[in-house]
Amino acid sequence: MVVSDNSFIFACVNHALVVELVDTPDLGSGAARRVSSSLIRRTMKVKILIIGSGPAGYTAAIYASRSGLSPVLFEGSQPGGQLTQTTEIENFPGYPDGITGDELMDDLRRQAERLGTDIRAGVVTKVEFARDSASCHRVTIDDSEVIETQTLIISTGASAKYLGIADEKKYAGLGVSACATCDGFFYRKKDVAVVGGGDTACEEAQYLASLCNKVYMIVRRDVLRASDAMQQKVRNTDNIEILWKSQVRGLYGEDGVEGAIVETDGQTSKLAISGLFLAIGHHPNSELFRPELECDNEGYIIVKHPTTATNIPGVFACGDVADPIYRQAISAAGSGCHAAMDAKRYLDSL
Ligand SMILES: Cc1cc2nc3c(=O)[nH]c(=O)nc-3n(C[C@H](O)[C@H](O)[C@H](O)COP(=O)(O)OP(=O)(O)OC[C@H]3O[C@@H](n4cnc5c(N)ncnc54)[C@H](O)[C@@H]3O)c2cc1C
Repeated sequence: MVVSDNSFIFACVNHALVVELVDTPDLGSGAARRVSSSLIRRTMKVKILIIGSGPAGYTAAIYASRSGLSPVLFEGSQPGGQLTQTTEIENFPGYPDGITGDELMDDLRRQAERLGTDIRAGVVTKVEFARDSASCHRVTIDDSEVIETQTLIISTGASAKYLGIADEKKYAGLGVSACATCDGFFYRKKDVAVVGGGDTACEEAQYLASLCNKVYMIVRRDVLRASDAMQQKVRNTDNIEILWKSQVRGLYGEDGVEGAIVETDGQTSKLAISGLFLAIGHHPNSELFRPELECDNEGYIIVKHPTTATNIPGVFACGDVADPIYRQAISAAGSGCHAAMDAKRYLDSL
């Protein structure tokens, strides 16, 4: 440990633990030595810090661990990420009989942990990005602990927007879904409805039309917001019917969705469906990093394709938070692998 003349205290142990500089301008250097230890905030310094414990974060952790980078990963308020909200996953490669979301995320977590990832509970509440590649990014956890990191992997995911009606929660996983690619298969030959009038809604409706008996599109206005090409496709699909100026007011059913209460021009009626797919947009969890980190109009972090590099050196983004298009577990995992490899290359270049 070094105590400098101007009462700054600094220590660095194996580049792993730094006792932060404590400015005590009113004290002489002797007094600085007597500064109570409670004044000395311990700051851990790491090579790589990963924010998020979804498929992207855990995969980044697996790759970073195997590269000898000893990553620290913060789980956030939803350990395991979005997949813990669902039951059966049938499209994650390597599980021929399917797997539950909880089991899959538990497997990924155990794999990351076995390989050496330091997985911690905690929500990142502040990030101060480094001004240059010689400095570290400062990451605050739960408004208290600060960790300095040479590279940062952001894998904070995106959340589907919901309508805000109570029945959505009641029937979550029992007929309400925000992902046709994920759940459409469970509704083969059934009648379903898609809520929304944009490109995503049209795409989801198209996808479901190829699996389901009938697809209703519940559209709030009397026009679609989607591109002309998408609109045309929807209109040309026989088993899609658009319910204009309509809104979902509720859902009903014994053990799962059996229908929706739909209001059209002030009149409510029952619509018999087995599944309600919400396609009114997603909300990327990127607020914490703006405005320094470049995002698109919807808040998705912009990366320099085909890499996961952002506009800030040493900061990489992967998974749904940087993916306005695919938003699948396997694509999130794939980009997590890229982010860890990009971070390793960056560290090697320093
Ligand atoms: C109901 C449902 C069913 C789905 N079904 C399928 C399916 O069958 N197949 C499929 O491929 N995909 C499916 N998906 C999509 C899939 O879940 C996502 O594409 C995938 O989880 C994205 O992974 P991610 O790692 O980018 O983010 P997420 O899984 O969203 O994880 C984000 C992580 O970031 C953490 N976090 C956020 N903010 C902070 C912070 N400030 N500090 C620390 N941590 C933070 C969260 O706690 C969370 O752990 C489904 C999604 C939902 C909602």
